[in-house]
Amino acid sequence: MLTRTNVKNGDELSILGFGCMRLPTKNGAIDEQRAIPMIHDAIENGVNYFDTAYIYHNGKSESFLGKALSGRYRERVKIATKLPHYMVYKLDSAKKILDTQLSRLKTDYIDYYLIHMMTDKPTLDRLASIGVMDWLEKLKEKGTIKNIGFSFHGTKADFEALIQAYPWDFCQIQYNYLDENNQATKSGLLLAASLSIPVIVMEPLRGGKLVTNLPEQVKKAFDNVGSMKSPAEWALRWVWNHPEIMVVLSGMSTEEQIEDNIRIASDAMPNSLTQEELKVFEQVKTILLEKTKIPCTACGYCMPCPAGVDIPGCFARYNDKYLLGDKKAKIKYMQILGLMQAKPANASRCKECGKCESHCPQKIAIRNELKTVSREMEGFFYKPLTVVLRKILRVK
Ligand code: SF4
Ligand code: SF4
Repeated sequence: MLTRTNVKNGDELSILGFGCMRLPTKNGAIDEQRAIPMIHDAIENGVNYFDTAYIYHNGKSESFLGKALSGRYRERVKIATKLPHYMVYKLDSAKKILDTQLSRLKTDYIDYYLIHMMTDKPTLDRLASIGVMDWLEKLKEKGTIKNIGFSFHGTKADFEALIQAYPWDFCQIQYNYLDENNQATKSGLLLAASLSIPVIVMEPLRGGKLVTNLPEQVKKAFDNVGSMKSPAEWALRWVWNHPEIMVVLSGMSTEEQIEDNIRIASDAMPNSLTQEELKVFEQVKTILLEKTKIPCTACGYCMPCPAGVDIPGCFARYNDKYLLGDKKAKIKYMQILGLMQAKPANASRCKECGKCESHCPQKIAIRNELKTVSREMEGFFYKPLTVVLRKILRVK
């Protein structure tokens, strides 16, 4: 496992960080029998940065991680977790949240503490005005928090304002070959580096979109150049090629993903891609951007929907139709969103309350997009057909 040095504090961090938002699940809960050995295996293979958040897995990710790391593992790794600022309107709420996090994580200090999903400077100003930033600094003096940072999903201009507005110890941005000019952008990454602020990257595979169901044209373009084995390897190597990036988080869900990512991280040196390899990404980007209709990363921040819509699920099926040219896309949409869930979760169930939209880091006009999905994927017979099929399936 390669490491990179945190220029602020000298920490030697594995270039692969374990994102604990997509852990394997069973019957709706984290499958601990699988996930705990996965965490231990990653540590034994050199991963030493674990990223979670107050809200991941409906609040269960931190408790799981605390359990997995209890005992001899805690001191071998750095824990990153996040303060959900959208739940903090007075200082006491932040204090209560941190107490809960320390108790869930079974630790008395957090190595990397982020303000979660901070998208603009007014949010920082609001938190400062209720005393949150002063409180974080005092916690840092006491050693309860080692590093103060923020995770970001706003615009380039907002990132530039935020990164310069406070002496951050680190920051976390969404970055992958499809998002080079989206959100913080490459110029934001370079700005952070010029300020000596270490950068953690999330969504290097864009919620799996740069790996699964890629169009044949993309696979061929990659196969024609270089010797990398998989689309995941291409995508991760592109991110690690940037020397300004310290850790790349991968939300690993299976043993195979861990094994593969550890292998890739063993020789992903900065500036190691050839000019020819870098050129193929331009070709691939053009193909994908033409085919991706809705830029959903499946982060799940918009969920749960009070009307039961599986928002990222609807967008994923709809995008697949265009990415894959899949003629069975509508059937799969009905199977997955109409028949295979305890309750139907298809797009036309949306009641247009708008609750989801303010949580979307990609600024997707969810209500409008769901109308499009419903129009294109459901049609007139969708509802009666699912009612009948659900009855039949129940009889079976
Ligand atoms: S706008 Fe629609 S999809 Fe969004 S939370 Fe409300 S009902 Fe759910
Ligand atoms: S719609 Fe937005 S918030 Fe919801 S999963 Fe997609 S990107 Fe995330």
